[in-house]
Amino acid sequence: MTVSIDVRCDNCRGNAISIPINGGDESPVDCEDCGADLGTLADIKTLVSLQVLGRKKVGRPAFMLLN
Ligand SMILES: [Zn+2]
Repeated sequence: MTVSIDVRCDNCRGNAISIPINGGDESPVDCEDCGADLGTLADIKTLVSLQVLGRKKVGRPAFMLLN
């Protein structure tokens, strides 16, 4: 099964997201283009789960950067 996820950087709108495949849930996920902190792997997993289930409720970028 192929799952297309919509995870974009809220800083540069890029979708080149670096996900630490071998990391734990607390591993930081960064934008490869601008280096913005997009949260943790747990955050990404939660987002993907919601999208896969078709229950995506947000109509805006999933991540709001704090900086
Ligand atoms: Zn970025």
